[in-house]
Order: sequence, then C-alpha cells, then structure tokens
Amino acid sequence: MTHDSRQLTQFIKQTAAEAGFDACGIAAATVLETEAMHLDSWLAAGCHAGMAYMARNVAKRANPALLVENARSVAVMLLNYKPPQRQPASAPQVAYYAYGVDYHDYIREKLAAVIAAVKTVAPETAIRGFVDTAPVLEKAWAVRAGLGWIGKNNLLISPTLGSFTFIATLMLDAPLEYATQQEKNRCGKCTRCIDACPGRALQPYRLNAHRCISYHNKRKGKNGVPLENYCFGCDYCQLACPWNEKTPPHRMNRWTIPEIVNFSAGDWERLDEPAFNTIFARSALQDVGFAKLKANLNVCTGKPS
Ligand code: SF4
Ligand code: SF4
Repeated sequence: MTHDSRQLTQFIKQTAAEAGFDACGIAAATVLETEAMHLDSWLAAGCHAGMAYMARNVAKRANPALLVENARSVAVMLLNYKPPQRQPASAPQVAYYAYGVDYHDYIREKLAAVIAAVKTVAPETAIRGFVDTAPVLEKAWAVRAGLGWIGKNNLLISPTLGSFTFIATLMLDAPLEYATQQEKNRCGKCTRCIDACPGRALQPYRLNAHRCISYHNKRKGKNGVPLENYCFGCDYCQLACPWNEKTPPHRMNRWTIPEIVNFSAGDWERLDEPAFNTIFARSALQDVGFAKLKANLNVCTGKPS
C-alpha cells in the first residue's frame, strides 16, 4: 500500500496515540544550526561538567541525515510522567521520572510498535526510533514540531502537559506534513525555577551541571553539592513551574514501582542490597547502584557515609 504524506502523517499521529503517547508533532528534518551553536557554546563554557557523551557526536546531533540516510522528517512524541501520587514528604525523594521502570525500556516498546505499524503501510520507509539512545536534540525537535517551548529551566514545556514528559523521536526518509506553528515562549517574567534551585545551577535557559543535584547524585563518586532531600535526581525546578500545576497525571499502565511511592523514610533506611536488586531490578536507580544510592540516602538523612 502506498501513502501520501498527509495520510502517513495522520497514520503516525494516530498510531502514536494508540501506543499511549500523549502528544505527537512532526518537523522537517533540517540541520539544527542555531541549536548546534547553542550546544557548542554550552560545551565550551564547561557546563556539561565532564559528561563526555554530551560532547561527542555534535555533528550528528545537529544533522538527522547522519542518523538516517536522506532523512526528511522527525516525528516527536511526548509521554507524560507526572505521578498521580507523590512520595511521603518525609521520605528521601526520587525524581518523578524514576518513579517507574526505566523509561528507555518502557518507551522502546512503544516506539517499536509505531515503527512496525509504519512498516506495514510504507514498507520502503527507512525509519529509526530514539529515546536518549543516540545523539538527538530531542527538545529542539519538540519545539520545531510545535509541541512546546524551552523554558528558563532548560526543559521543554508543553502548554498542556508541562515539563514532566519523556521525549521520543522517530526519524524517517518519508516526507510528512510539518507543524506550521511553533509555541511561543510563555515564561515571561517568571523566574520561579531559577529561584527554586538550591544549588543556583540555573541561569535563564542555561544549566550548569557542576551545581546541579541531579548530576551529582547520579554520577559515580562523592557528591559535590548538598543534595537537599533528593537521593536520586531532583525536581525542584520543575515543581516550581506554574506550567506543571494544572497538568493531568500520567496514564501509563504497569509503569510505577509501588515501593517508590509507598516507602517511608524508615523503609529507605532499612533497604538492603538484595531487596534493592529485587524491588528496583527494572528501575533507573540501577544506574547508580546500591552503594551510591545508600550514600545518597545517608546524605539526605544527615548520617555519615
Ligand atoms: S534539577 Fe535541581 S539542582 Fe538541577 S537545576 Fe533543577 S532544581 Fe537545580
Ligand atoms: S518556572 Fe517560570 S521561568 Fe521557569 S520554566 Fe517555568 S514558566 Fe519558565
């Protein structure tokens, strides 16, 4: 079966919705020149704090044709992860994005479903899906696809979903119908995210990872900044954002790890390595491992490591 670009665009959006994504927009796969310059200047200022992967493949990040030959289109999908229930405030906190199973695995399945569906109607199409697995400037593509703007907290803000969203992309060599309008930046005079950041890691539209809790409590070695109450990640700048106040909770089935929202401070304190490996077997917490998590928990509760 052959599809024209309008039909294929509608098909991808419908299939993405059926796979569970909360939003889908499409952008032309042009070279991201401005965004690449912005990335270069951020790297040159050393704000990536030695995260070497950020500095690799800058050309690929800017040019989709280096990821998919003759790339014509980028479909961007958002998946809301704002939890319907928060952890007890007295417990050491985990960033919302890690309330469930590792989002890479969860989203990869959804992307595979969309790709398989596209292949059934347009088998000749070259198509690849990405979710933080390749050098892709997801936020820039989301802006170009008309899904939101990049806020002063350096994150994508969707006017309907806020910033607690995972971003997945599909690059393909088929022409599609592209977003004709981009969302205008609606941060205005607000500085809530900047004011809420305990480490003063944010300047408008720029994050200094050296000062960011989320960078320190997820990397190997000693933390270089106070962690406040976060043992994994940090959400202060997002929790402060007015665009996250009225957004709906996520609709993901079988995503949440119940212990994350049910554990008391004492449960975290009693957590041992076998239990960690069982309960959090599919969690992003595995990225830091038990020893680092325990050290972070000790910092949160004021105990010596
Ligand atoms: S994640 Fe936390 S430490 Fe990092 S910029 Fe946001 S509020 Fe600041
Ligand atoms: S807190 Fe205010 S300035 Fe920061 S991203 Fe949200 S709207 Fe923009």
